[in-house]
Amino acid sequence: MSFVSFWVYSQNTPSQTYADFLSATARLQFQNDSENVTGEISFDVQITSTTDSLFVDAKSLKEHEVFLNGNLVKSDYNGERILLHSRFRESDTINLRIKFTSEPKKAMYFIDATGDGSWNQIWTQGQGKYTSNWLPSIDDMNDKMLWNLQITAPDHLTSLSNGVLTQKKELDNVIQWNYSMDQPMSSYLVAIVIGEYDSYKLFSETGVPIELYYYKGEKNKALATYKKTKEIFDFLEREIGYPYPWQVYRQVPVKDFLYSGMENTGLTVYSDSFFNDEIGSNDRSYVTVNAHEMAHQWFGNLVTETESQHHWLHEGFATYFSMLAEQYLYGDNHFLNLLYTKAENLVEQSRTGKSTELLNPGSSSLTFYDHGAWALHALKVKVGDKAFKTIIRHYLTTNAYDNVTTFDFLEKVTEITGLDLLDFRERWLLNKSFPAKEALQILRSYPEMEEFFQLKARSISNFNESFTSFKEVANERDNIPALIEMIQQLTLHDDIRKYDLIKKVSNYDLLEVNRAIVLSTQQINDYNRSVIQTLIDEPSYVTRESAMFLLWQDTKNKKELLLDLKSRWDTLSPELNMSWLVLALSTPEFTNAEKQLYLSLLRDYTDSKHSMITRQAAFDYLIQLDIMSEENYRDLIASCFHHVWRFYKTSREHLRTGFKTETGREIIKNLMTEMSDTDQLKVERVLSQ
Ligand SMILES: [Zn+2]
Repeated sequence: MSFVSFWVYSQNTPSQTYADFLSATARLQFQNDSENVTGEISFDVQITSTTDSLFVDAKSLKEHEVFLNGNLVKSDYNGERILLHSRFRESDTINLRIKFTSEPKKAMYFIDATGDGSWNQIWTQGQGKYTSNWLPSIDDMNDKMLWNLQITAPDHLTSLSNGVLTQKKELDNVIQWNYSMDQPMSSYLVAIVIGEYDSYKLFSETGVPIELYYYKGEKNKALATYKKTKEIFDFLEREIGYPYPWQVYRQVPVKDFLYSGMENTGLTVYSDSFFNDEIGSNDRSYVTVNAHEMAHQWFGNLVTETESQHHWLHEGFATYFSMLAEQYLYGDNHFLNLLYTKAENLVEQSRTGKSTELLNPGSSSLTFYDHGAWALHALKVKVGDKAFKTIIRHYLTTNAYDNVTTFDFLEKVTEITGLDLLDFRERWLLNKSFPAKEALQILRSYPEMEEFFQLKARSISNFNESFTSFKEVANERDNIPALIEMIQQLTLHDDIRKYDLIKKVSNYDLLEVNRAIVLSTQQINDYNRSVIQTLIDEPSYVTRESAMFLLWQDTKNKKELLLDLKSRWDTLSPELNMSWLVLALSTPEFTNAEKQLYLSLLRDYTDSKHSMITRQAAFDYLIQLDIMSEENYRDLIASCFHHVWRFYKTSREHLRTGFKTETGREIIKNLMTEMSDTDQLKVERVLSQ
């Protein structure tokens, strides 16, 4: 495809070409006992060519009134858009104000964490183009405007939005929070979070305020979760070479989030499954999500795709810059391993015929994120580090606060390097499958990788053939991916010399390596017992859980072991605690009274106050052991209609499994008699799937 036709192909057609929405000022009220949004939004609109009508996207409106330049006017509403008929003259600036009540079905979520029937947390998810589900606005990403949001909510809660907090007013039982921005953005990036939070503040090297939010009383988790935030921020500013484009940066965890994180402008919202204490953060690190969403503040928020065909300009770039941040934090071997793993997944996707070209708007996340990141890396290898940095800086400077296509980016590359890029485009952007050969060539150009590939090739050799290279790898404390690969390969061999290798590398005191050792151990024997015993106190709940299970299987004094572990560990993750309870229930030496207590503690984990991961693990255990109580089934049925797809899908599978057991069937049928006809029908539908 030639350059010119490529450009025509990606031209953008905004949905409302005759009007430019300049600014939006919203005033919104939230009440504890309601899941409605009440308020008004006022737009200043520049008419760019004379027209007879204007529209505003608005879904789920219960009621609304429209004012044009202060006067109440008639409008049409079709459930999707408010349509306004009038004579709008070119170059006029008008004010459009909409008073409304909306009842959002999606994009805004009211979370009832305590199960008392009223929400205690609200968060929004605007991508893609969903903000109009709760707030009348312009869905089109190409109409960027200045946003000012005022939120009024109960006074025990903190309300957050995009931009700087200009005023916080305490009124009767409520607080009014006023946020304002000084640069424009697309409406999918508008966000609101309301909840019980505390926060602390840092400043970047360049003086940007970074506000870090956490659930009240959980400062220890905040310090662990946000440990790398400032380092990543400073790194990205330096690496990207364009100053952070917004006035403030906030990060806030929310409950039952749809994804890992979302890069709302200046306000990253992320799943609280990444909000963990020091040990939990070792198992489930926030670093990748942290860096990814932060990189979007430039790639996606400052320069925004015109349409989803160019989605890699968001996701590929954010993924690549987060990989670079991880390289900065954890070293070259870690970075190369990321490249390698992503290539492996992409090759697998190609093999199964699910690959698409990177510029196909229907591409998978894997393609947009990881193929996109790889394309950038290939480009960087091609043009060199220095030119790459110049390209990025110029690309952002030229298109700041505007919309972009792939062409805009490639144009910069050509401008700065003089390369025509025909080859690059064919291979990385328009190729239907992942260019595995080129990727392998790039990987092989790193000496560290060559050794890793040699080790990989060993996986089919016998132990004697591999022993020398195993010994070499075991000497390299710094090459964590190679050490882990070796540990995994050792599981295929019976030779007892492998235990010396394992012992040796376990002495390096590397968290990931020690976790791999425990996870790859099937059973304890006289050669590995001492290693597993020393790893029981590792600062990793995952390692502790597996080591506990291995030692429990191995020992005759099971009760003693469990009580000893419980007393020496200061903190347990919910998952580790559940695992402990399940083992205790299977330990004959505990009394019936003790077991009754443990069972009730285990059953408590299905309560909606816990995270989805915890609840899911609890259902796994309880269903498997067939010890679900009526309360557990009540929680499970509620989970079947949760807003997160992954969670309701597995919950529905659990419900069907439970229904096949005698007690399960009886409890479910009993619970259904208490339900409304509609709810009964919904449950029946799940059971019959
Ligand atoms: Zn992203």
